[in-house]
Amino acid sequence: MNIRRIAIVEDEPDIAEIIAYNLGREGFEVQHAEHGTEGLKMIKEWKPDLAILDIMLPGMDGVEICRNIRQAENIRDIPIIMLSAKDDEIDVVLGLRMGADDYITKPFSPRELIERVKAILRRRRINDDSSENQLAYGPLSVDKDRHEVKLIDDNIDLTATEFKILSCLVERPGRVFKRDDLLSRVLGDDAIVIDRTIDVHIRSIRKKFGDHRDLIETVRGVGYRFKDIESL
Ligand code: CA
Repeated sequence: MNIRRIAIVEDEPDIAEIIAYNLGREGFEVQHAEHGTEGLKMIKEWKPDLAILDIMLPGMDGVEICRNIRQAENIRDIPIIMLSAKDDEIDVVLGLRMGADDYITKPFSPRELIERVKAILRRRRINDDSSENQLAYGPLSVDKDRHEVKLIDDNIDLTATEFKILSCLVERPGRVFKRDDLLSRVLGDDAIVIDRTIDVHIRSIRKKFGDHRDLIETVRGVGYRFKDIESL
């Protein structure tokens, strides 16, 4: 297996060193930046498999780095874990709104962070290995070629838009998608949509999912995500 590369942007040397040391011991290749702008530059050039971003940084904060990554064509799908200095819900919500995959609040144990990193990379690998057009997660399988959705053995009949929304969510279990981000991914940036259009589609998908409706979770104030079954 390829060596997995992790970028760390963290201005507190002690914390960065502990993270880098522990990731290195697990066989990861690590690069580190202390400055936000330099961190973003490093990520753009190095294209790591995952980025760990502190929120409070000199130059450019972690939320802004996250936003930049999600808007850059060739790095927009890099998984991101945010480090939050305090249990500050606003930071965390902002980070998730910008497309972070997960967050962890300081102080944290290196073990905990490594487990989160591994979990995200493991999920990523499952979806990378399967042919790009065959997605499977928990009881759900999505066949993009045949436009087929199954829950266990039952075929679920979705509209074209519902199908696109579901595919988008299930490609990144656990990741929160903002409403407007989902809409632009599904309908394109040019689509004229009224606010909350996405809610109507989600409601309809859930209805068709019946007992499995909880697979699509609402994240208050942010948007939607496909349930991260591994974290249960
Ligand atoms: Ca900091």
